[in-house]
Amino acid sequence: MELRKDPITRSWVIVGDDVERQPQPGYCPFCPGAQNAPQVIATLNGNELGGGPISAMVHPAPLYRIEGEPHRHAEGIYDAMNTVGAHEVLVQSIRHDIELWQSSDAEISQFLLLTAQRIQDLKGDLRFKYVTMFKNHGPAASQEFDHPVSELTATTFVPRRVLYELRASRDYYLEKERCVFCDTLGQELRNPIRIVEALNHYVSMCPFASRVPYEIWIMPRKHESSFERSITSKSAHLNELAGLIRRTLQRVMSISESFYLVLHTVPNTYQKSNILQYWKTVDEDYHWHIEILPIIGAKAKPYFLKEVYYTHISSESAAEKYRKLSIR
Ligand SMILES: [Zn+2]
Ligand SMILES: [Zn+2]
Ligand SMILES: [Zn+2]
Repeated sequence: MELRKDPITRSWVIVGDDVERQPQPGYCPFCPGAQNAPQVIATLNGNELGGGPISAMVHPAPLYRIEGEPHRHAEGIYDAMNTVGAHEVLVQSIRHDIELWQSSDAEISQFLLLTAQRIQDLKGDLRFKYVTMFKNHGPAASQEFDHPVSELTATTFVPRRVLYELRASRDYYLEKERCVFCDTLGQELRNPIRIVEALNHYVSMCPFASRVPYEIWIMPRKHESSFERSITSKSAHLNELAGLIRRTLQRVMSISESFYLVLHTVPNTYQKSNILQYWKTVDEDYHWHIEILPIIGAKAKPYFLKEVYYTHISSESAAEKYRKLSIR
């Protein structure tokens, strides 16, 4: 496997001839006491917040490997590098049958804390420019494991979508000296037709230009660029966020059985790069958020293959439907 850079769009792509893995029926590597369980990297015991013990483990078939140097090199006009990075599985629960939205707020808080701690820890490695958490749930999202898990990757490059966001929010800030996310949120809250839930510290809303039907974001009301700094600080209001995530995922699951969830947080600012000039104001111009993209059966095409996004339900109608669902 290697990373190749598209010389036109400048996106990095993982390229390689993958070996198809055969699932072993009845075997779960993440259930307690599993034979050949992957290496445990970190564990949070239940006593931190009252959830169960949960762990981060090495992904059994990682896309990125922790050893070695990226060895960024040219092949003629092309750029390539080794798939150096980290790829971890965050085991959300020791129970095989309890997903995030079926968990208690204490358990979800515990999971958020483990995520934040893993991101902080990996950002200590100066090779890594970006660390994030994501979850692919359901058959249409190519869910990999039956056990309730999320994944975490640390990469030697900033993924394309995040790079777009970083550049755009920096440009907006240069012009207005304001955060584009704070401004968006302010406007949405004044006329809350796309707001699903507005709490004291966090909001869920359907973005104005949703890429897929029922796309929904969760973000903090107060400006904060870093998820991990937010979550590990005393003023995190973790229970409020946990409850909002639980209810948002219940809403999503009542619309669709599959979704992508991704956390967008600030890149590794220990990694001062002279080429990528977006670090100077990033704490003021970027605002962390969680994006959830449901996959709606018949009309779904893999959204990353589309040239232009097409949504057959407006975000106002989606938010209205979400609000009307009876969720506890
Ligand atoms: Zn299991
Ligand atoms: Zn902001
Ligand atoms: Zn984003």
